[in-house]
Amino acid sequence: MTANSSPSAALKSPAFRIGLATSRSHQHGPDSALAQLLNGSRSNIEQHLKPQLIVVGRTLDAMQQLGLLDQYPHIERFPYGRQGGLMKLVSRVVDADPARTLDAVIYIMDPVDPSSTFPEAVALKRQCVIHGKPFLSTLAGAREWLELEAVATGATPNAALDPTFDLGNEGIALIAHDAMKERMLDIAERHFALLDQFAFRCATGTTGSLLNKLAQKIKGEEAGRNWVRPFLSGPLGGDAQIAELILDRQQCRRVLFLEDPHVARQHEADIQLLERAARTVTDYALCISDAQCGERWLTLLQQRAALATS
Ligand code: PGA
Repeated sequence: MTANSSPSAALKSPAFRIGLATSRSHQHGPDSALAQLLNGSRSNIEQHLKPQLIVVGRTLDAMQQLGLLDQYPHIERFPYGRQGGLMKLVSRVVDADPARTLDAVIYIMDPVDPSSTFPEAVALKRQCVIHGKPFLSTLAGAREWLELEAVATGATPNAALDPTFDLGNEGIALIAHDAMKERMLDIAERHFALLDQFAFRCATGTTGSLLNKLAQKIKGEEAGRNWVRPFLSGPLGGDAQIAELILDRQQCRRVLFLEDPHVARQHEADIQLLERAARTVTDYALCISDAQCGERWLTLLQQRAALATS
């Protein structure tokens, strides 16, 4: 039963409230990232998650022009970017009022669009990380998140996405800032079986050597020694090395990067470079940037991957 077909469903408040915005270059035409996302995830949105979508002005104009989700009732218009639409999204991310707060933000960003570096764009992501809410800045990330959450509510898996959940052919990058390294080890230990299913794992230097010690504890010294491929340490360029893997689409589309949003980092540019690399191949790569979202993501990924191989 869809939100449209039942009066009681239409009255029921939707489970998620999601902020939605896209850079200009991702809005045009039926092949745009916006159209691919909303057409590809249409049944997950309309029939399963039924979120309230808070959509920034020009993105909603594009949806209307392209006829995307044109029968969907739970859409609220936010102002255009230049009138503060993104700034208002930031305020809603941090709002404690359950009737106003956003549960997740999808902002499909074009890294060469200068607006992707505006303070409101940077703050939007940062506040999502601080408040443990998904910030999905690529087509692949938004599509995967909607799929995982919909399947968790009982949706039939989208078979077109099955190849991306065949983890024996996939890599994953694991990175943690110093204050988050304990949390990364804790997450990796609890989700070890899932992480072990990936064809390979890579990491920045220090994170990688800690993860290999964990793997040696779990799998034995020999088998765990090279569980993760460590690149250079983050401040020495490891983020850039992982970015190249992503840009080359070499079997590493997923990044779990536990960021510490409370300290200034000298290698901030490298961190941004890695995120921008993922956004450059928006249909391919995704970054999850905080521990709370990472935990849920790995849990749902395990369920979805089992359905892809069964
Ligand atoms: P590290 O790098 O794993 O070498 O500490 C992480 C980072 O700070 O980017």
